[in-house]
Amino acid sequence: MIDGENETGAAPLKPGDEAAPGTPGSGEDICPACSGTGRKGDAECSNCQGTGIVQEGIGGG
Ligand SMILES: [Zn+2]
Repeated sequence: MIDGENETGAAPLKPGDEAAPGTPGSGEDICPACSGTGRKGDAECSNCQGTGIVQEGIGGG
């Protein structure tokens, strides 16, 4: 078993991601959980996995 992998070959989403990277209509945004710092106190932000960035859906038209 390999954690964090799937059979589609797509990049694994972070908990805070709303869409996979490269998805039309989505884009990077500041992680709302850590305000883009990538940190929650002394720990890595689990929402963005320490990147400070999450993929969010935009528009939705
Ligand atoms: Zn975060």
